[in-house]
Amino acid sequence: MADVFTRAQRSAVMALIRSRGNRATELRLIALMREHGISGWRRNAKVFGKPDFVFRAEKLAVFVDGCFWHGCPRHATQPVNRAEWWAAKLARNAQRDRAVTRSLRALGWRVLRVWECALVRSRAARTVGRITRALMARRAVGN
Ligand SMILES: [Zn+2]
Repeated sequence: MADVFTRAQRSAVMALIRSRGNRATELRLIALMREHGISGWRRNAKVFGKPDFVFRAEKLAVFVDGCFWHGCPRHATQPVNRAEWWAAKLARNAQRDRAVTRSLRALGWRVLRVWECALVRSRAARTVGRITRALMARRAVGN
């Protein structure tokens, strides 16, 4: 079937899809933060490494990392097809995540990485606690 988009439109659409690959998990974290009265965050802030959520006043960056793409130690799976290609790809992702975290910290940001699986009901309170503690720590020192 012919693509309904021109080549330029297609690449814009794909960029949008990629940048929102995490959407369901981000929405889940938004719901949790609202439920616990955590406010002051922004999405799509122009901050290095494109954090999923930015608390600018506290200079806290939060990433929600998908278990597969970012290599969660509990749920990372190794695809069987094109195994080597995937291993290299996922290793690059993990490497990039570490580099982004390091760079942001060097710029004075506090960085939290939240696994997709840490948003499930049974682990949600602990995850919210991590965010709350990070915010309080930043407020205490007046960053
Ligand atoms: Zn996981």
